Amino acid sequence: MQIKRLKLTGFKSFVEPAELHILKGLTGIVGPNGCGKSNLLEAIRWVMGESSPKSMRGGGMEDVIFAGTSTRPARNFAEVALTAEQYVPDGKDGSAEDLEVIRRIERGAGSAYRANGRDVRAKDISLIFADAATGAHSPALVSQGKISAIIAAKPAERRQMLEEAAGISGLHVRRKDAEQKLRAAESNLSKLDLILSEME
Ligand code: ATP
Repeated sequence: MQIKRLKLTGFKSFVEPAELHILKGLTGIVGPNGCGKSNLLEAIRWVMGESSPKSMRGGGMEDVIFAGTSTRPARNFAEVALTAEQYVPDGKDGSAEDLEVIRRIERGAGSAYRANGRDVRAKDISLIFADAATGAHSPALVSQGKISAIIAAKPAERRQMLEEAAGISGLHVRRKDAEQKLRAAESNLSKLDLILSEME
């Protein structure tokens, strides 16, 4: 998956709509302290479904909404749109297609997601990125302090990173779903057996 474009509106310090085109190859973000470099990386993690306000350096998720300054009022919503080129394994010519994911948060209303124009759940977004071997917790998104965290990681945490890199973490979510459905079906079968034995 290749990230091509990032659009931010009202996200942290990006109060005015900002659009960044990310070209192939290495991209560097430079600027003075506090200009919003880390906010950009956080915007990528947030649109990929980050659910921990702490890892967004906030107390609650609404803290990602522009909080206002002495000269500008606070905003009521924040929105991040990410466009990525996604490899389609069984596409006609093994081609790639564009994927646009949008996450929006409104004060008092929580987050909503859209993928290519359709309303989707947070879980669907996590699966889309997990299948593409990336996501909000991908080791490829290296924020400050992450290197030492990787060095100090426990074996189970390292395994999780390797599974993410291999693109199989989505399978764990699907396995959990399948196990839940299986348990529900088994419980329905037992109820049916009971009803049948009462009818005999
Ligand atoms: P450094 O080089 O020091 O690491 P940086 O360029 O990575 O800095 P960030 O940490 O991305 O900068 O941005 C910090 C700025 O974002 C601060 O000025 C902070 O006030 C602003 N900021 C963070 N959250 C919000 C918010 N909800 N509303 C308005 N501004 C915010």
